[in-house]
Amino acid sequence: MSIEKLAPFFAPTYENFPKARTIGLVVLRTSLSELILRTEGTGEPMCREFVIAGLTEDARKQVVQRLVMTKRKQVAPERRKGREFLRSQELLRPNKDGVPCALNTNAPCEMCVDCFLYGFAAGGGGAQKSRIWTEDAFSLLSAADTISDRTINAIFETGTMRDEKGNASTALNTSEYIKPGVHFLDVLTLKDVTADEFRYIVGNVLLTSRYGAVSSRVGRMENQVLGIFGGIAELPSSLELVQAVHDEMVGSNSPMEHPWIMAC
Ligand SMILES: [Zn+2]
Repeated sequence: MSIEKLAPFFAPTYENFPKARTIGLVVLRTSLSELILRTEGTGEPMCREFVIAGLTEDARKQVVQRLVMTKRKQVAPERRKGREFLRSQELLRPNKDGVPCALNTNAPCEMCVDCFLYGFAAGGGGAQKSRIWTEDAFSLLSAADTISDRTINAIFETGTMRDEKGNASTALNTSEYIKPGVHFLDVLTLKDVTADEFRYIVGNVLLTSRYGAVSSRVGRMENQVLGIFGGIAELPSSLELVQAVHDEMVGSNSPMEHPWIMAC
């Protein structure tokens, strides 16, 4: 698809006031390794939510518990990825204290593309609302199908789970993880962005490959952009999209079990 087709929905340059130029991206996020998406801290369960299974009359009577990939879990690593490139090109400006723009500080630079796209709230009263609207993404299959857990035992220095007297090591803890091959459907909405800002955002989505906790060891994911839509309003929500796909699977008698191969 040529980017030219989206021209009516791009802002020619940054403007202070919104003009309803809305671009919607449908993103399929697939886990490629074990993945840990917890609310907070070790030992917490994976984020999940009870929702209506689908949109048909029958499906509206069923409740399923789906995994949730919260907006914070999506945006934080994608922002960091973009900012790596900005930093390497010296495009993160110094803030008013002369310190290079940094996330989660009270002094953003208010100049770089990250500040202007994802928004900032400066201590001095300045603020930029984010022009990237995100929402929680839901798994297609239920939490029961897509979560597993394992008990981690302490390994002694001999490399075994028994000490020199032959005593078995005690279980350290049991931890839940999301299996590899789990699909999350997601909708991203971009408001009044320029063509270059659009390229920057799509780049961040496609280049980010790690999400969730302990992401140096687990949390590998692949993002695919399934569709891009220009208009004056938002697309249906991630939840409605997942519900519609659920109905499609039921209608075509596709087996709803993990691993599920998504044809796209
Ligand atoms: Zn900045």
